[in-house]
Amino acid sequence: MRARLVAGNWKMYGNRSTNRALLEAIIRGMNGISGVECAVCVPFPYVAETAAQLARTPVAWGAQNLSEHAEGAYTGEVSAAMLAEFDCRYAIVGHSERRHLYGETDAQVAGKFAAAQAAGLTPILCVGETLAERDAYRTEAVVARQLDAVLDKSGVEAFARAVLAYEPVWAIGTGRNATPEQAQEVHGFLRARLAQRDKGVAEGLRVLYGGSMKPSNAAAIVAMPDVDGGLVGGASRVAEDFLAILRAAAS
Ligand code: PEP
Repeated sequence: MRARLVAGNWKMYGNRSTNRALLEAIIRGMNGISGVECAVCVPFPYVAETAAQLARTPVAWGAQNLSEHAEGAYTGEVSAAMLAEFDCRYAIVGHSERRHLYGETDAQVAGKFAAAQAAGLTPILCVGETLAERDAYRTEAVVARQLDAVLDKSGVEAFARAVLAYEPVWAIGTGRNATPEQAQEVHGFLRARLAQRDKGVAEGLRVLYGGSMKPSNAAAIVAMPDVDGGLVGGASRVAEDFLAILRAAAS
């Protein structure tokens, strides 16, 4: 039985005051919710304050990106060890905004995944196709390529300490979510692909759905057998929406 996880991706939103109020509301709301794990992935400057506010609460925290390098002359980058110093549990790697806006390659994403694990963080690896790729019936080929880049570098055993997120690019921030059936199709494909290498690891891996998840669609999506929770962008910045998604995932 895989424990469901709902992780918020705050992207580049918020300030110290709105973050504090949001986290207070999430902590309060989580008091009445059980049967689902909760995490927030915050912008780098807010990691320390988030860590201080969430210590000794059931809410975990993490970052949205990290360097593939352990240390060195990489101006502007943040290493996994730095995030580990602030007790980050998670680091998102390969988010489509990083792949498409900043040109992150499959090889870089695989490097980031490995760097996160080397420092004891749990990577949340994002994969997903664009609308053009879906329309060209290339969804499986694209997510397989993105997954295989990490599998080939880190091995299937590494997925015992990772989370996978299927995030169709056309659904992110667009208000247009994948249907539960579309999500299940790709989640099932990803799990089966991992199972070809190791059945036990594939069965234990949490595969989150991300892309315009909201209170109105969360329950139906997480009811699918291979969906183990959500990676939530926009709705994770609105406490009542994020909590409603957590409740839907818990039920
Ligand atoms: C995301 O940023 O990972 C995401 C899924 O965004 P949204 O929920 O806003 O579509």
